[in-house]
Amino acid sequence: NGCVSVTDRYAPSPTAQLHLGNLRTALAGWLLTRRSGGRWLMRVEDLDEARVRAAEGVAEQQLEDLRGLGLDWDGDVVWQSQRLEAYATAVAALSGRTYECFCTRREIAEASSAPHDDGHRPYPGTCARLSSAEAARRREDRPAAIRVRAEGAAFTVTDLQLGEVTGLVDDFVLVRGDGAYSYNLAVTVDDLAQGVTQVTRGADLLSSSPRQAWLATQLGGTPPRYAHVGLVTNPDGARLAKRDGSVTLADLAERRWDSRRVLSALTASLGLGPQETTTAALEAMPEDGLPPAGGAFWLGAVWDDTEGVLRGQ
Ligand code: GLU
Repeated sequence: NGCVSVTDRYAPSPTAQLHLGNLRTALAGWLLTRRSGGRWLMRVEDLDEARVRAAEGVAEQQLEDLRGLGLDWDGDVVWQSQRLEAYATAVAALSGRTYECFCTRREIAEASSAPHDDGHRPYPGTCARLSSAEAARRREDRPAAIRVRAEGAAFTVTDLQLGEVTGLVDDFVLVRGDGAYSYNLAVTVDDLAQGVTQVTRGADLLSSSPRQAWLATQLGGTPPRYAHVGLVTNPDGARLAKRDGSVTLADLAERRWDSRRVLSALTASLGLGPQETTTAALEAMPEDGLPPAGGAFWLGAVWDDTEGVLRGQ
């Protein structure tokens, strides 16, 4: 019938256990995908070696927590640490429009405008026109990062709930000075390789989407559409974080919040009413996606019921 089926993915960074906000985003993606009969893939973003090594076993626990909530995925888990060749190939393919950058974090902070929501500071282009002699001289002081020349392109992405969102694309990093591939590069290469057509993720990454979508076109691909899910916040209105206390499945289990109860709270927070199973949650889904759940909010039910507990008391 000409309907292209959806392929979405969940892509946890294995640096800390998943908290309610992460789980809610995963659930939203799973529901949006399964509702339309699509494929839901799993990708562990374990590129940041030092942080991942410090958090051994976290990825496995994350996968177990997702399974425990009833979120099943298709095919094998993709590990970014196994994908270095693909990233190298992409950087080589872009070599006609990349340049070396020697700026320190501090130099960029001083020359740039305010950071985006995702913490990214638009690059002011300082190294864009270095002569090769100058670059050779700078290379003796410090290793270069590799940036892609975007020339201030504006790029528009489509979000299921927000509609069209346009962002300026700066000359962002593809390879860091220490040789590590950047988040934006790896995500884009992997989404293309995995045939991802829909990206459901936290609203904190909204400002990354125009950069990644633009990069997808530079690599000859078609950008996905997005569904940016509102962040769970603590009662002070700040984004939920580990330091807020008992926010992981293990924490909650100790307080007699089993996975069914957690699932009910999460489905209720997505506007689907309290559903104890993923099957019931799917049945509660409207035809045309999730009910609009505008912006950040906090999970009142969990909070009220565990008052204090969520603060680790
Ligand atoms: N790994 C990222 C995170 O855990 C998500 C990246 C993405 O979905 O594009 O926040």
